[in-house]
Amino acid sequence: MRARACIKCKEYMIIHAANPSNRIKIEFFERKHHLHTLITVNLEEIIDQYQIIKNNGSKEPSNETSNS
Ligand SMILES: [Zn+2]
Repeated sequence: MRARACIKCKEYMIIHAANPSNRIKIEFFERKHHLHTLITVNLEEIIDQYQIIKNNGSKEPSNETSNS
């Protein structure tokens, strides 16, 4: 599983490539962090250090990442 992550904010959003509404959320995430450094990584690489941004925009502990 891949994620879009902001290095500066230590936040990420999981990429669901087949999901159009997720694509919109990713674009929103990118706009919000466009002055920061955005990366696309495998989720395993950042899950311990970064904080997930849920679909509703709220922050939650990264304990809900295995369902897609
Ligand atoms: Zn950021």
